[in-house]
Amino acid sequence: MRFLRQCPSPVTREEATDHRALYARLASRQVVTPSGVPAGVVWSRVSGGRAPGAVRDLQWRCALGRLPVREILHRHGCAASPLCPRGCGAPETVSHAFWDCPFAGEFWTLVRVSLRRVGPGLVLSRDGVVYRRGLGLLPSVTSGVLWDVLGYAKWALWEDRVSVVGKKVNVLTPSHLFYRFRGRVVERIRMDRTVHGRDWVIKRWGVFGGLL
Ligand SMILES: [Zn+2]
Repeated sequence: MRFLRQCPSPVTREEATDHRALYARLASRQVVTPSGVPAGVVWSRVSGGRAPGAVRDLQWRCALGRLPVREILHRHGCAASPLCPRGCGAPETVSHAFWDCPFAGEFWTLVRVSLRRVGPGLVLSRDGVVYRRGLGLLPSVTSGVLWDVLGYAKWALWEDRVSVVGKKVNVLTPSHLFYRFRGRVVERIRMDRTVHGRDWVIKRWGVFGGLL
């Protein structure tokens, strides 16, 4: 509602029902500037893609820094400790949960190796993973699918982090989590092949179709 009040009329039907569309419009007018977000982040690209809604929503909230990580919860008196639930000893910020944590680092190393076929131009960085910056060096189709794949990877990381908070222990290793993530992407590609056919999959998934 706060964003709706700030948004000049008329508010389109899409903006009234999709917080990402509304936020994109406000950000483009510089009415709202997400704190801590580097300049040059293109919000329509961050929220875009063809991954499931839950994945796209996570991409969006991750870039905005709007996830209930412990550092934020502790600052607002909602968590006893600001430290990472994985036990690494560092404060759990959004950046830490998705990139800086040693667990996340090991996970991304495995993802990076599996994506080497995308091309020598691919450099996975925090900016690329969180804000989709720097992925534009790749052909646009590859960049779009890569963003979806990175969304599945972040989804796996966050889902596991939530599970760790509940169980108070790391159950999965980075390697386990990598295979879970990879399995979901493969499952999605197989489903697309069943529904749309092989040619469609080649066109849509490009080099990622080779994961099958
Ligand atoms: Zn950590």
